Amino acid sequence: MSSKITRRNFLKTSGAAGIGLTVLTGSGAAIGKNTKRKIRIRPIIMNSHGGRPGGRNELGERGNQAAWSILTGGGLALDAVEKCANTIEVDPNDSSVGYGGLPNEAGVVQLDATIFDAKNYEFGAVGALENIKTPSSIARLVMERTDHIMLVGVGALNFAKMHGYKEENLLTESSRKRWLSWKENLSDKDDRFPPKKKDIGGDNEDNFYEMYDEADIAPDGRIHGTVNCLSVDTNGDIAGITTTSGLSYKIPGRLGDSPIIGAGLYGDNNVGAAGATGRGEEVIKTCGSFMVVEFMRQGMSPQEACEAICQRIIDNYGGKVNFSDKFVALNMEGELGCASIRGRKGSEPQIAYIEDGENKQYKGTILMEI
Ligand code: ASP
Repeated sequence: MSSKITRRNFLKTSGAAGIGLTVLTGSGAAIGKNTKRKIRIRPIIMNSHGGRPGGRNELGERGNQAAWSILTGGGLALDAVEKCANTIEVDPNDSSVGYGGLPNEAGVVQLDATIFDAKNYEFGAVGALENIKTPSSIARLVMERTDHIMLVGVGALNFAKMHGYKEENLLTESSRKRWLSWKENLSDKDDRFPPKKKDIGGDNEDNFYEMYDEADIAPDGRIHGTVNCLSVDTNGDIAGITTTSGLSYKIPGRLGDSPIIGAGLYGDNNVGAAGATGRGEEVIKTCGSFMVVEFMRQGMSPQEACEAICQRIIDNYGGKVNFSDKFVALNMEGELGCASIRGRKGSEPQIAYIEDGENKQYKGTILMEI
């Protein structure tokens, strides 16, 4: 019986052959010069939830720890980043990712996520996905079980249900109260009175903002926030995920950079990977994560590349910006990079990572101190 060759299998087979040739010869001929494949054999897992003790930082460390045993057992970077992202997505206390994420202006949580598997040069994404706690796993299913790259809205939800995922309410009491408070404070010309402190649960607003990087707080106090998880495994393959509930109180249906390949996430087994958080519209306009990877391909370190894209965005506005973005990057040697456009001195953006079994923090830079 002749074996079936689908268009997808054909593409995958020919693609894999190209990559294999590159690794074996080390010539990089299949992908152009200056792209010699470098193989790292010490695994590393990192995510962009580094920073102040407690809150996101603790969650970032927990995500890395969950992923670390996969890597030390010889597992795939792809499985490691999914484990890391899922750990953060299902935690109700992270109000910018997965379950408990801050909702859109209609009070509905809509999630975006992207995944890549650089070993096979495969990507997947979901956008405006409702009622599923782990959008990064649905993005992986899009990548592995379809011939498409991105599914959005109801189509993404139906696809998740087809794969056995159950619909769940993603709005926690805390996120609902914050959304209602935002709505009631929107205008003094409408019929809603502003809430009293007790109406929003007696939460201390200062503590609420404490857990966020400068890059994640918009000038109007709305919350950005996303997590980028990147990993290199013992085979020297790199994988990544970006997952988010996006800008809080966004217009329903708005997609940020997180589900857009090349914007909120990009990776290449010959170079490294990058991810973004913060004002997604600017990251989309600059193809931000793709640019960081290309800067590294041209010879920049991950740190230099993250700073270069931040500077590019600043220059696009003649040096005057009132928003921020944060970029993180990892190259195949395990070097890290991290930079934010704006922030206060002393609150530099950070990465949480594990290498050699130890929880570590990498401190990045701020280009415009405020
Ligand atoms: N960058 C993402 C967005 O714009 C998430 C965020 O950081 O707010 O949706």
